[in-house]
Amino acid sequence: MPKIIIIGAGIVGCSLADELTERGYCDLVVIEKGNLWKPGGSTSHAPGVVFQTNGSRTMAQFASQTVEKLYGLKHGVENCFLKVGSMELATIPERLADLHRRAGLAMSAGIDARVLSPEEAFKLHPLLAREKLLGALYVPDDGIAKAVLADEVMGKRAISRGARFISNCEVVAIDQSNGAVTGVQTTQGLFPADIVISCAGIWGPKIGAMVGMHKAIQPLAHQLCYTAPMPELASYKSEAELPVLRHQGSDLYFKQRGQSLAVGWYGHRPLPVRADDILPNELAEIMPSQMRFTPEEWKGAMEGATEVIPALKNSEIVECMNGLFSFTVDNFPLMGEWSGLKGFWVAEAVWITHACGVARAMAEWIIDGHPKLAVHECDVNRFETHQLGSQHIEERGAQNYIEVYDLLHPLQPMESPRPLRTTGFYPRQKELGAFFLEASGYERPQWYESNAVLLDRYKSPPRDEWSSKFWSPIICAESCAVREGVGLFDITTLKRIEVTGNGSLEFLERMTTGNLRKKSGSITYCLMLNESAGIMSDITVMRRGERDFFIGVNSNTDINYLKKMAPDTVHVKDITAGTVGLGLFGPKSRELAQSLTRDDLSNEALGYFKLKSTYLGHVPVMLCRLSYVGELGYEIYTTADFALKLWDTLWQAGKKYGLIAAGRGAFNSMRLEKGYRSYGMDMNSEHNPHEAGLAFAVRKDGGYRGADAFKEINPNALTRKLVCLVLDNPQHVVLGKEPVLHQGKVVGYVTSAYFGHTIGRQIAYAWVLGELSTEGTALTIRYFNCDYPATVGQDPQYDPQMTRLRS
Ligand SMILES: Cc1cc2nc3c(=O)[nH]c(=O)nc-3n(C[C@H](O)[C@H](O)[C@H](O)COP(=O)(O)OP(=O)(O)OC[C@H]3O[C@@H](n4cnc5c(N)ncnc54)[C@H](O)[C@@H]3O)c2cc1C
Repeated sequence: MPKIIIIGAGIVGCSLADELTERGYCDLVVIEKGNLWKPGGSTSHAPGVVFQTNGSRTMAQFASQTVEKLYGLKHGVENCFLKVGSMELATIPERLADLHRRAGLAMSAGIDARVLSPEEAFKLHPLLAREKLLGALYVPDDGIAKAVLADEVMGKRAISRGARFISNCEVVAIDQSNGAVTGVQTTQGLFPADIVISCAGIWGPKIGAMVGMHKAIQPLAHQLCYTAPMPELASYKSEAELPVLRHQGSDLYFKQRGQSLAVGWYGHRPLPVRADDILPNELAEIMPSQMRFTPEEWKGAMEGATEVIPALKNSEIVECMNGLFSFTVDNFPLMGEWSGLKGFWVAEAVWITHACGVARAMAEWIIDGHPKLAVHECDVNRFETHQLGSQHIEERGAQNYIEVYDLLHPLQPMESPRPLRTTGFYPRQKELGAFFLEASGYERPQWYESNAVLLDRYKSPPRDEWSSKFWSPIICAESCAVREGVGLFDITTLKRIEVTGNGSLEFLERMTTGNLRKKSGSITYCLMLNESAGIMSDITVMRRGERDFFIGVNSNTDINYLKKMAPDTVHVKDITAGTVGLGLFGPKSRELAQSLTRDDLSNEALGYFKLKSTYLGHVPVMLCRLSYVGELGYEIYTTADFALKLWDTLWQAGKKYGLIAAGRGAFNSMRLEKGYRSYGMDMNSEHNPHEAGLAFAVRKDGGYRGADAFKEINPNALTRKLVCLVLDNPQHVVLGKEPVLHQGKVVGYVTSAYFGHTIGRQIAYAWVLGELSTEGTALTIRYFNCDYPATVGQDPQYDPQMTRLRS
């Protein structure tokens, strides 16, 4: 049994101690620099309002698990969760529409949610300005977490199982040997450990610095005030009966505290604080995470507040704070074992709302090797290097604070810092009028205005206002033109690694499901599974030589995982930034490429899923015969220094073949027509290969991680499946994450959705119940407040015989 140390007894540390000891991991010490059970971190003063609805299914499920757990906890006679419900308020039509979208997000994650009329909302919360309201999103299971009480209950439960909590003890250093933690140095001496879990909240960056780790966490001060007892609340005798409220339009939230109201505000300018500057417990006026209130930032808060709760006009504010908590560069928490030091785990930047779910996942991860829920969005090893710079962390953290309640489109890129990373093709893309979105910090063309000339030939159905954002009918034109001719796609942002050295084949065979014992020059699409046969990633392995593999992976998490598992003789190297990639896709791609090389590119010489090192004009390239858009074509890779020469060479030669540059919009539409899954969107570690329709990529003989579990799965008894839905009405567009219904009941959710311009219909891949996965089944997709009829269709919709790819 490993010796475990948890740093911090806030809601995260206490929940994790509870989860680990419940599973028998009781050789555990929680070290806390403050007093128990109100040690002075963010948990000690947070109002604990819990809104489960979230754009991320995983975060929503963390929240649901937190509600479920806290609702079951009692501190004496007091409940640790007050299920008073929540309402998000709309006072303008755009927000009302968005509440319908958010209701869909909640339903997709299995959360009961509905949009109420102003009258219904007013009935639930009589202090609301009924005449100002247009509607409210009501989630009956939301409410108020009594986090300090819960900490004590969970902490004492862990102690009863053998854990120790040591208070007034500060961790000052972390010991390590041979790349692994060995213990922590504290103000009360050394504590040996095999596993150290940092649950230090806003002090996370300080703990990170002890091991040389940069954490993408920015502590920010947030304003929260309480009113004096209000006559309008005089009839309420218990702590809270009224639903908690959010008025995102004014950056405000509210909760009842007996006869008073708490008002929290995100409308003030961001107030970042460096973790090193947070006062020690003994010097802090009230507690370290509470800074002195700055009334000048509060200006404007009550104006917005009285608009929706007029009674606040006469209320007196009696208690105010600038409370500290953590924001990250991408709004997700930090979870998992840091790749830089074995045994050093992190669970930080976690709201109370998600704390118990996060703790459960962490315990499963530590004990079973992987959590049940998909946590790729939260993985501590997910960041690009630029995301770990202090300027970036501060700027993005502050921006995420500003945008916390903003109405953000799913495709909306960050505004600043941009451009941050550009591929070598950027100058040419700009010349062609590229409309850029952002991927991994890179500018990535979504479409090219230069292709507007094609709009006469290719027509796209009109769209509603929401789905027209970050969209252009040019996407349709690009898709169709590529299917008929040839297009150039910048695929540089997709991650690439080299795996080389003695034993690399055997290593990759253990790590992946692919049959890799093929000749050099072969390409294999395969999966990486966890021990439960959940899909950790899908990767494309290109065998360049006996012990030389070039692999297209999905994320930094994949790279770190492979690095961690590789034996000493095998080298795993991220080559993304040093190389560039272009997709030359379309029926005329071979003719075009052939015109630039004397090597034979015929189907016989360079067949489907084969690669060749060659030259296109002067440029040394690796030419890989595959395409993610379902057409004859090549992924072409070269080193970054040749980027412009490669583009210009292809562009010049391409004139004869009608070559166009095409963006990510066309790429996505075409890949969905071809049924190609995108990891993280369409499938993740919660899904097995049979469910995801990817069992073809799993070799029969075993010998890879997850093989035993995979063998146990009965493909004829799947409880859920990823299916291809086709919307019945070609005018209907959905964007992804919407709930799927059958006879009025939620039976699944959409993953990726794009208009298929070749088939002339909207395609939506979706997870649905197994019994509803047969072709022809009629379902509906809820888009805002409309139910769009859709039918389970053939998967894929485009070229299922693969004739175009293999031609
Ligand atoms: C004003 C305000 C309002 C908020 N409202 C809500 C809300 O309504 N809903 C919601 O979900 N979230 C809310 N939050 C956010 C929420 O409070 C935090 O995200 C959450 O409490 C963080 O919990 P934690 O356990 O990670 O961190 P903390 O509670 O900060 O615990 C970290 C602990 O680590 C200890 N520690 C740090 N360094 C060391 C060291 N070197 N040695 C020993 N111990 C150490 C600290 O003393 C501290 O007790 C709010 C935050 C604020 C500030």
